[in-house]
Amino acid sequence: MNTSHSVLIVEDEPEAASALKHLLEGVFCKVEVALADDTCLRLAQSKTFDLIVLDLMLPGLDGLEVCRRLRALQAYTAIVMLTARGSEVDRVAGLQAGADDYITKPYSAAEFMAWVRALFRRVDALFEQAKSVEKMTRIGQTLSIDTRSREVRVRGQRTVLTRKEYDLLLLFARNPGQVYSRAQLLDAVWGYTYEGDEHTIECHINRLRTKIEANSAKPKLLRTVWGVGYKFSGVATWSGA
Ligand code: CA
Repeated sequence: MNTSHSVLIVEDEPEAASALKHLLEGVFCKVEVALADDTCLRLAQSKTFDLIVLDLMLPGLDGLEVCRRLRALQAYTAIVMLTARGSEVDRVAGLQAGADDYITKPYSAAEFMAWVRALFRRVDALFEQAKSVEKMTRIGQTLSIDTRSREVRVRGQRTVLTRKEYDLLLLFARNPGQVYSRAQLLDAVWGYTYEGDEHTIECHINRLRTKIEANSAKPKLLRTVWGVGYKFSGVATWSGA
């Protein structure tokens, strides 16, 4: 689990707030507490949280209104409402105000933490996905590699690669111009313990060429460096997307 989730607790009762803070810090969250609506809105204006735990029963502004304002400030933050009331009407009103979920007091620490862990798993998965999208790499118009879905397109056409073909291609594409010997490729893609020989590499390179080169007999991307090994020559048209 990511160790730096940031959480904002909005709870006017200091004891309840500090108990929650303690629980969340136990799973490596950075926790801030707001005891009043104006404090929480100010905090939500100044930084982004992964999760806001909002007590519905606050003095001052109505909890639902606080939720609406928090939602307006933090479009992608998970907001969970805590309330002593658990009627269907409250639940609907809370969700309409922008809460993602609803926990009815009294709740057990175990129940709350199970909910939080499940939430952070989703948050982490989304974060990883977003990160991978940034890593999507295009080499000119010829080749695109989406590291999130492991999808490879060659001249716009989706191309199915085996796992080793994909790993090889990714190694080359990430290191354009770098010359790799067959032994280095074996180490990098198959691992030191692999018992196979260097013909394995030739076989995979040839198969990869038939999939990515316009003419595999005259490879332009995956070139042979005679007497040494192979290199990827996509460097001139490399760009990140
Ligand atoms: Ca309260």
